[in-house]
Amino acid sequence: MQIVKGSFTLLAKDGPIEPISLQRNSIGFCHCGGELVSRAYFPWMGWAVAAACSDCHRLILLEYGTDWTWRKDTALEEVVDPGDVDTQHPVEVVPVSAVPMEQLQSVFTRAEIRDLLALQEGRPYVRQNVYRARAKFELFERLFRIRIKP
Ligand SMILES: [Zn+2]
Repeated sequence: MQIVKGSFTLLAKDGPIEPISLQRNSIGFCHCGGELVSRAYFPWMGWAVAAACSDCHRLILLEYGTDWTWRKDTALEEVVDPGDVDTQHPVEVVPVSAVPMEQLQSVFTRAEIRDLLALQEGRPYVRQNVYRARAKFELFERLFRIRIKP
């Protein structure tokens, strides 16, 4: 099961569920012996509580019946809302020559940058460097919200 980072929206199979409370209570113990502290309460399949371990920081969804009898625990994965990211920081698609050098240098080697530029400008380039650079395009996009025109 997934939960959206920040907003604590639970991404359930039957659709997103908004929390009705973000109270922090001690609600039990993790397998590691740490304390489980609630992060968000949901009216879902009875009740569900997202909790984090104070020691290992594992996220767990504790599921309860409508009468608060415990049913089961599920692992929770924190995700960034893709809808959120797209509307707030749309990805720009630009040629490599238009990307600030500082940003390029934080991901690519000097040889990779040189050969990406050479490729774009139709000059001779080392194929291996371009391959290596392309393998990092996704990382670059995640870091800077800029997609380099291939
Ligand atoms: Zn733990």
